[in-house]
Amino acid sequence: MNYLIYRCDCGRVLYSKETTKTKKCTCGKTLNVKKRRILKIAQSSTQATETVQQMQEEIYGGSIFRTANEL
Ligand SMILES: [Zn+2]
Repeated sequence: MNYLIYRCDCGRVLYSKETTKTKKCTCGKTLNVKKRRILKIAQSSTQATETVQQMQEEIYGGSIFRTANEL
């Protein structure tokens, strides 16, 4: 199972299984996964989580720590 990694318009990095059609971001926007530009593909949910965390840190310079209650 591959996981697709992409960004919401609000800037958050999200991931979902490649079979997922829509994904609701924590900002409230529902994304059509098939129409998003895929940034990366991960081979497992663990890898997807790590990649998302790395990308968030790159984007926010590690100054913002996302917590589990946002997931
Ligand atoms: Zn969003």
